[in-house]
Amino acid sequence: MVHLVEKNLTTVRKQMALACQAVGRKNEEVKLLLATKTVPLEKLKIAMEAGEMLFGENKAQELRDKFPLMEQHNQVEWHFIGHLQTNKVKYVVKYVTLIHSVDRLKLGQALHNQLVKENKTMDILVQVNTSRETSKFGVSPELALELVEQLSQFETLNIKGLMTIGKLNATNNETRHCFQLLKQLQTQIRAKEIPRVEMDILSMGMSGDFTVAIEEGATIIRVGTKVFGQRYLPDEYYWNENKLQDD
Ligand SMILES: *Cc1c(COP(=O)(O)O)cnc(C)c1O
Repeated sequence: MVHLVEKNLTTVRKQMALACQAVGRKNEEVKLLLATKTVPLEKLKIAMEAGEMLFGENKAQELRDKFPLMEQHNQVEWHFIGHLQTNKVKYVVKYVTLIHSVDRLKLGQALHNQLVKENKTMDILVQVNTSRETSKFGVSPELALELVEQLSQFETLNIKGLMTIGKLNATNNETRHCFQLLKQLQTQIRAKEIPRVEMDILSMGMSGDFTVAIEEGATIIRVGTKVFGQRYLPDEYYWNENKLQDD
């Protein structure tokens, strides 16, 4: 029997292909990252057996719990997509190959300090708050270039592009505007030719808006609900937590 997760994956892949086709992009230009917060391991394994190898977590603790159980499959790759507190940095750099959510200098500094200790480098994206909703993290669009410049001083950090969460519960046009803004920022920052800064990755688009994001240039889409079903915890648990703390 085909599991629901497999069925959903087939649907998502088809929609990805259609969106690519609509704007003349190649399927290989867009990677599917499965957002796995709260998702039990059995479902992750089904996705993996169906060929999915890229997973994203929002919390250091969940990453630590799931990583060892998936590690046996050495093609599996983990990214960190959630708000990252500076005191959790050491757990995260251990497991992931790309951090999507670097949105402040202080976090860059904390990552750098840890990476120096471990004699490692890390690929990162700068998260931009394109919807200007206070409930979300990310540097404001006006300050994105400045933050990229500041982060580029840390020789342990490879800046690979930008990430955003599009406006939620919004019209297609409002969401599209967020994605267009991220694309514009990518173009502007790229034009500055900042040493060691690459701007090839655009991480944008989730269950409700990934086709729009692909049309606007996404190279990684992050999909959870549409593959795994509804989560039992509200997103505020991941997106607002500790917002008022110093970091
Ligand atoms: C949860 C989450 C997603 C996936 O959201 P869905 O709407 O379930 O597809 C994508 N990006 C981030 C940063 C998330 O926290």
